[in-house]
Amino acid sequence: MKKITIAIDGFSSTGKSTVAKQLAAYLGYIYVDTGAMYRAVTLFALREGCMKNAVLESKKLIDRLEEIKLEFKIELGQNNALIYLNGENVEKEIRSMDVSQWVSHVAELSEVRKKLVELQQQMGKNKGVVMDGRDIGTVVFPEAELKIFMTADAKERAQRRFLEFQEKGKSVSFEEIYANVTERDRIDTTRADSPLIKADDAIEIDNTQTNREDQFHTVLQLAKDRIAGRV
Ligand code: C5P
Repeated sequence: MKKITIAIDGFSSTGKSTVAKQLAAYLGYIYVDTGAMYRAVTLFALREGCMKNAVLESKKLIDRLEEIKLEFKIELGQNNALIYLNGENVEKEIRSMDVSQWVSHVAELSEVRKKLVELQQQMGKNKGVVMDGRDIGTVVFPEAELKIFMTADAKERAQRRFLEFQEKGKSVSFEEIYANVTERDRIDTTRADSPLIKADDAIEIDNTQTNREDQFHTVLQLAKDRIAGRV
């Protein structure tokens, strides 16, 4: 069967990764979480002291980018690929509030974007990939056969993230999460290099009121139509 490229872009906590994972599992495609890659670079920067007095020392990080090796590996008994930073599984660490607070600043740097976009293009070069992020349909794979742009009300998104944090027993307030979600939206949509925008040919899905199952069926139907060449 013909393999296609599926790009899922959108705002933070819109459930992009959930739908992307479901789709990849259903179609037997590779799933790539590009946010995890920006988060892993941010974790490296935090560990290596590139943030001083609440400021990212860009040059310090850029000078060390070559040392960063990122890989996705499938663990035994797991469906999803986990991210490794220089050989270490950092899937848990990259989801911390600290990383969330810095990641959009790191993602503003063109040098970082260039490195990660090249890796992403390499991972998707044979098609059969579902990639989620902010610039997949506009920059990484502008020729993707299916582009989805996901949005939802910011309060609803923060609420979903808040519940996720609570389920994991992490103590973060709703206000802190809401502030982080809206601040990342602001930085991601206004940065000079590859800002978050809907590609002209992307299909917009607002899931403020939609349940995950209905949303998955909508996206799956779109994918099946593209694979069959119906649209
Ligand atoms: O998807 P996630 O929320 O984990 O992404 C974390 C951050 O990484 C985003 O807020 C954005 O700043 C950055 N990002 C990006 N381009 C991508 C994926 C993520 O700039 N393709």
